[in-house]
Amino acid sequence: MSLETQTLPPKNASVKAAGDASLPRRTFAIISHPDAGKTTLTEKLLHAGGAVREAGEVRAKGDRRRAKSDWMAIEQQRGISVTSSVMTFEFDGIRFNLLDTPGHEDFSEDTYRTLTAVDCAVMVIDAAKGIESQTLKLFEVCRLRGIPIVTFINKIDREGVSPFELLDEIAEKLALDTAPMSWPIGMGGLFEGLYSFEHDCAFLAPQRGSGAGQTVEGIAPDSAELRSALTDSAAPLLEDLILAAEACPAFDREAFAAGDLTPVYFGSALKEIGVDHLLAALARYAPSPQPQPADPAPVQPDDDKVSGFIFKMQANMDPNHRDRIAFMRVCSGTLTRGMRLGNSRTGKAMGLHNPIFFLARDRAVVDEAQPGDIVGIPNHGTLRVGDTLSERSDLFFTGLPDFAPELLRRVRLEDPMKAKQMRRALIDLAEEGIARLFRPLLGSDWIVGVVGALQLQVIASRIEAEYGLSVGFDMVPYETARWIGAPDEASRKAFIARERASVAEDEDGALVFLARNAWQLQRLEEECPDLKFLAVKERQ
Ligand code: GDP
Repeated sequence: MSLETQTLPPKNASVKAAGDASLPRRTFAIISHPDAGKTTLTEKLLHAGGAVREAGEVRAKGDRRRAKSDWMAIEQQRGISVTSSVMTFEFDGIRFNLLDTPGHEDFSEDTYRTLTAVDCAVMVIDAAKGIESQTLKLFEVCRLRGIPIVTFINKIDREGVSPFELLDEIAEKLALDTAPMSWPIGMGGLFEGLYSFEHDCAFLAPQRGSGAGQTVEGIAPDSAELRSALTDSAAPLLEDLILAAEACPAFDREAFAAGDLTPVYFGSALKEIGVDHLLAALARYAPSPQPQPADPAPVQPDDDKVSGFIFKMQANMDPNHRDRIAFMRVCSGTLTRGMRLGNSRTGKAMGLHNPIFFLARDRAVVDEAQPGDIVGIPNHGTLRVGDTLSERSDLFFTGLPDFAPELLRRVRLEDPMKAKQMRRALIDLAEEGIARLFRPLLGSDWIVGVVGALQLQVIASRIEAEYGLSVGFDMVPYETARWIGAPDEASRKAFIARERASVAEDEDGALVFLARNAWQLQRLEEECPDLKFLAVKERQ
């Protein structure tokens, strides 16, 4: 069944006088290895929701895309692109918030944090390649957070691995049960159709490139009708379909919600095959905004008091302005323009005079956000990744991870007279979450820690463009860093006394051990059993 053959609601059908508040929310992200088809799928999903009319728009750069965006003015004023960070669309009376995750693996930390702000993820797998490294990493973060996963096996219009093998691979590599919801009848040159177990219908590919294909409703996998609609060479493929229908486990909604089972959809984002099944599944099965882990207790989405946490910071690309956009997930209450919220970290209140509401296209302007929605908050450095904003004074969202850097470098300033400005620049970037910043207890060096080498280039060019400073990076004898968890003050002090030369503080003042290699780290772990050496620090 292609999107063309499905009756989509008219573009304005869901614009109700009651406004956004009345629509259920689904907040999700797409996780995949680069090239699996995330961008293409995003375009098609937005297209289906009427948010984008022309295919290619997500990818399109420059004026054409800007002219279409609802927040064009903000982008132009501030010179930043917020468009792709949050995309919203409506479909079937549901408002979808799709959070973009950067594809490049050097920026995976940003991706990880974005995953803390979603209730569900779509895992896109290339049918020819199966599970790739980046997919695996991102999946592990979803598992850590208990985020349910819907799988989309993409590119069935090309030769791929057999569906049975792909399902086995998911089960084995991810330790995740699978329930196929659809089944490709052949792939690549042999592709004849896509059967939906869920809708008991078959999309039949156009034969010999003619026409747009057709969908036949109410047809069984083992029916003579289906058999006669396919070519003779599809006979063995049909046997596979019948086997899958009989032998594969059924979808179990509870197991899905618990993150133990993934419904698997097959399709082609490029050819718009199976995308409608995926969208219907998100509408039907993806969880509504979930309670969020917090201290002293998880926050329920139906709590009246407004609360949210900052999961991403986007800096202004314009060097003349030092403002940034903080992206906040609303966790409870109805957030409105002008509202004052307290920041639990600083104890100070701030007025939300100019929040950016990400709205679906063709809607009347609605100045409020509901749980599950994302708002952009312009600020001049008052907000940080991990901050809690709320109407309650005693609330802290927990569980936003910081990851141990995999590359450490000493920052070298070309003009030593500018040390103070460099400090400011490094702290700003660390607060934005671009890099970890470490200050060794001995000496006056600054050490930056990043997840990938590309980030170092970004840091240097931003410091140059935004602060007018020229910096370089020198090697250090450390391979990685671990946050130190000590049971009490005495053991903390004892550890500092013992390892002073390798101990540093991060930008939040937390104690960090700079390790020369894995062997040294392992030895220390054995010798200091009362201490914890943490690769992931949860922001408290
Ligand atoms: P991303 O890196 O995951 O965002 O991947 P893209 O969406 O940019 O896709 C990578 C390449 O795969 C592009 O050349 C797409 O045109 C192509 N592609 C995406 N989906 C499909 C598909 O369903 N079938 C085929 N044949 N190619 C696809």
